[in-house]
Amino acid sequence: MSEVLQTYLRENLDDLKQKGLLNSIDVLEDHNGPIIKINGQEMINLASNNYLGFASRDELKDADMAATKKWGVGAGAVRPINGTLMIHKELEEKIAQFKGTEAAIAFQSGFNCNMGAISAVMTKKDAILSDELNHASIIDGCRLSGAKIIRVKHQDMDDLRQKAKEATESGLYEKIMYITDGVFSMDGDVANLPEAVKVAEEYNLITYVDDAHGSGVMGHGKGTVKHFGLQDKIDFQMGTLSKAIGVVGGYVAGTKELIEWLKARGRPFLFSTSLTPGASAACIASLDLIMDHPEYVDQLWDNAKYFKENLERIGFTLSKSDTPITPVILGDENKTQQFSNKLIENGVYVKPIVYPTVPLGTGRIRNMPMRTHTKEMLDQAITVYEKVGKELDLI
Ligand SMILES: *Cc1c(COP(=O)(O)O)cnc(C)c1O
Repeated sequence: MSEVLQTYLRENLDDLKQKGLLNSIDVLEDHNGPIIKINGQEMINLASNNYLGFASRDELKDADMAATKKWGVGAGAVRPINGTLMIHKELEEKIAQFKGTEAAIAFQSGFNCNMGAISAVMTKKDAILSDELNHASIIDGCRLSGAKIIRVKHQDMDDLRQKAKEATESGLYEKIMYITDGVFSMDGDVANLPEAVKVAEEYNLITYVDDAHGSGVMGHGKGTVKHFGLQDKIDFQMGTLSKAIGVVGGYVAGTKELIEWLKARGRPFLFSTSLTPGASAACIASLDLIMDHPEYVDQLWDNAKYFKENLERIGFTLSKSDTPITPVILGDENKTQQFSNKLIENGVYVKPIVYPTVPLGTGRIRNMPMRTHTKEMLDQAITVYEKVGKELDLI
């Protein structure tokens, strides 16, 4: 083993530990539902992205198993060789229907979808206006493209307009894109898409919305773009199949030409084996459930509203969130860690979110209420929050 590497790892791991920045990784002993089991302890789960509880839903499991029986466990190749099965085509048609676009392309994950889709269209002759709080996969996708990255102040539409104007007038760029999360995952705020579209129309910007936390949540489940009625204005409706949808995968929905291009130039589509048949079938079942049962999304929002109101009632300050994402901001990294440890000891499973996921000094507990939490579970969680909050002098 390389001594240089080992020294590097030891020093940097120690540094992270000292700063309270090293999250331990817990292992679940049963499925990821409203209650989870870790080290033999059953806990109320407020940490997943499994908004609708679909990750272990029977209809999805049945679809997965039936497709596995028919198609096998693996696709056998990358998409353009012979890894495109009927089930992939069906999934892409279903996504397009769900998003109200002409076509869609599925990737193996949301992360590699952003890596592939941004770099398929943007080059070093272009510029990308990117919200400063965009997800890591957007940042990496932008970097990979080689385009000039221009950071836009978070949700600041004046800053966007100013920077779009400067970039346009500089005459340096062939194309300019504006890229944003639809729902910002660490705060739960929703992108101001109506205003962004105005700026985009003024300056001929390409628009790209990553709606990983919006699909299955906003717009009666159809996402943030649909919520604002902007399906005809946003070029890239990107999303994940791993959060509310409950399975795994990523996608872009858009025009026929865009999807044709991504199938020709999206590198993870070209060079990484396709989604498994089982996952594809489970995603189809999930999208059908969301489209056929708008009440599921309503139940998620009811639970979130109930949970937020009660946290505020007992004295916690929440960050401004327009979605079920419920962050309790504590600031200091070690205090955040300590608070979440206490919650877990008391049977409420939450995750501290600290630097580098969010800026230093803005440590928080991000609560993710689910559709499948019962009122009793939420009440129990609130009781624990109140007890631990008082113990640590936070309320
Ligand atoms: C989770 C997330 C992704 C990554 O999606 P995966 O399918 O889990 O790879 C991309 N963008 C945003 C905004 C996300 O929240």
